[in-house]
Amino acid sequence: RWSRVKGRLRSSVGEDVYTSWFARMDLEGVQDESVRLSVPTRFLKSWIQAHYAERVLSCWQAEMPEVHRIDLTVRSAVRPAAHPKEAPAPVEARRAPTPELRSTATAPVSANHDALGGSPLDPRLTFASFVVGRSNTLAHAAARQVAEGRRGDPVMFNPLYIHAGVGLGKTHLLQAVTWAGNSGNERKVLYLTAEKFMYGFVAALKTQTALAFKEALRGIDVLVIDDLQFLQGKSTQAEFCHTLNALIDAGRQVVIAADRPPSDLESLDDRVRSRLAGGLVVEMGSLGEELRHGILKSRVAAARAHHATFEVPEEVLQYLARTITHNGRDLEGAINRLLAHSKLNNRPVTLEMAEHEVRDLVRPQEPKRIKIEDIQRVVARQYNVSRSDLLSSRRTANVVRPRQVAMYLAKTLTLRSLPEIGRRFGGRDHTTVLHAVRKIEALVSKDTALLEEVESLKRQLQE
Ligand code: ADP
Ligand code: MG
Repeated sequence: RWSRVKGRLRSSVGEDVYTSWFARMDLEGVQDESVRLSVPTRFLKSWIQAHYAERVLSCWQAEMPEVHRIDLTVRSAVRPAAHPKEAPAPVEARRAPTPELRSTATAPVSANHDALGGSPLDPRLTFASFVVGRSNTLAHAAARQVAEGRRGDPVMFNPLYIHAGVGLGKTHLLQAVTWAGNSGNERKVLYLTAEKFMYGFVAALKTQTALAFKEALRGIDVLVIDDLQFLQGKSTQAEFCHTLNALIDAGRQVVIAADRPPSDLESLDDRVRSRLAGGLVVEMGSLGEELRHGILKSRVAAARAHHATFEVPEEVLQYLARTITHNGRDLEGAINRLLAHSKLNNRPVTLEMAEHEVRDLVRPQEPKRIKIEDIQRVVARQYNVSRSDLLSSRRTANVVRPRQVAMYLAKTLTLRSLPEIGRRFGGRDHTTVLHAVRKIEALVSKDTALLEEVESLKRQLQE
């Protein structure tokens, strides 16, 4: 039934609007006359409520006349289907009760951009509060370079594409570029989340102002787009592609952040992907202990601007930096909790308090994210062939088997899809990859020598 309702919705709003707004909507349950649906973000929820509530209801009623109410909720785990790698659900759920001092301390403000309207900027996310460490030196330097450019300067790398996992500082860096770029010189810098871009474009389509929207976009000097992995919908993507090309060709700077490299943005067109990869692509790695320590200190300093008596002893900072290894949001959450706790109970922060208050944020090291290149390198070394042999079309026995092993490992140790793995192995078809995976699966169940070899490769990769 749910799929029939979705079918109705799709034909009622059109393919493009459907993929933009409803593709990530899930059915949570039906009870008597009400239906519970969920979407991954608050933004999607309010957009659907404001524009499509009636439509959704009538599509349900066409299938189930007794339905009279639709409850739309935001799923606690931010985990869209196309995107299974994000933080596991319990983490997000645990994060919910964290006191959100961020939004009360200083309300986000909007960068005012006439008709376009950028996404809200957090005044605290500036270069001044961005801590530089080993994992983000290059990204930071490139971002600074972009922010300091003036109108008419030659553009050095375009687009600047920054990718990193959740909570590693992408949004912080992009907003820093926006703040810095907009202050002081005559350039127009526009910060948009990919969702906001879709919103702008779809809204413009509905009111027949799409042309004005396009013109306005092309009139800015620096376009900053956050969370590009959420860009969905064929015509939105086509529009994004045009905008990208137009801006780059006109010598305007484009800065993009996403949670994965361009090659892994599977829903995007090949041409867009290669355009994205044609500028400077920088990855920000996980936050090292020193960097975590620096971020904690910067957070405490920021909190002290409003709560002058708030102090966190060095031993507590060290404890937090050592034990909270996941991402910047947890570091921020930890400081927020300590602040709330010490304010409410009127007690100074101690190590004991910290151990108690943040114990759920402390968790074992995340398993290492294994890259396909690493697999190819390790397998090539093990079998004494070159990496280019693995990617080549050679079919001699001494490369066929290692290649199959490597594809098998890519399928079992990464979250890449079969077509993506095929592409990364010299442009092979997904059926070839599937064949290799099945072959090795069958072999390791009989051949213990091969099984041991595969296990040893896995161990080497996980180290
Ligand atoms: P992302 O957009 O990559 O998911 P954010 O930019 O939202 O991550 O960062 C999450 C939190 O961690 C924010 O509070 C941010 O200020 C903080 N943070 C991450 N990296 C840094 C850094 N290098 N310096 C200061 N704060 C950081
Ligand atoms: Mg972000």
